[in-house]
Amino acid sequence: MIILHDFRISLEEYANRGKMNNFPIFDKCPNCHCIASGNLHRHGYYWRYAITDEAEFKIPICRLICLSCKKTFSILPDFLIPYFQHSLDLILQRMEQFLQNKKTKGNRQLFSFHWIRYQKNMKWIHSFFVDLGEVIGISSVIKNEAVKYLKLIRDFGASSFLRRSWGHLSSYFMAN
Ligand SMILES: [Zn+2]
Repeated sequence: MIILHDFRISLEEYANRGKMNNFPIFDKCPNCHCIASGNLHRHGYYWRYAITDEAEFKIPICRLICLSCKKTFSILPDFLIPYFQHSLDLILQRMEQFLQNKKTKGNRQLFSFHWIRYQKNMKWIHSFFVDLGEVIGISSVIKNEAVKYLKLIRDFGASSFLRRSWGHLSSYFMAN
């Protein structure tokens, strides 16, 4: 189970702090909700890539295990989309640049993978914002739609959007 967490620091800072990051403590298990806090134990780390415009980092992800239900949890910083190596900001930024007809850096194949995935996700993004009470019209021009949802995500705060939308309709941002 992935828990998206706001560490209130940048990706670079998180990478610098490594295992010394301020990992959250839970007073109950996010899965079985057992209250005994002693049941949630640190369960090591795994290392993953986090790629920004400037650099490629390998960062530790803290794992927890609940001794009661045996479920394990990964605390993923909210500047990363689950299962994506490139940072949330970088992925959004490249799409914004593309939509503004600006030159984009980086691998084209990777970009088109992100871009196609994003387009597949637009209905889901729409439904998330509609649930929040946003009134949004639908245009038949795909590029206009793409711009509109990117702007909504930026206005909401990309990381907040990632956290809040996690699990919406049993899915998440950029899921297949
Ligand atoms: Zn549990």
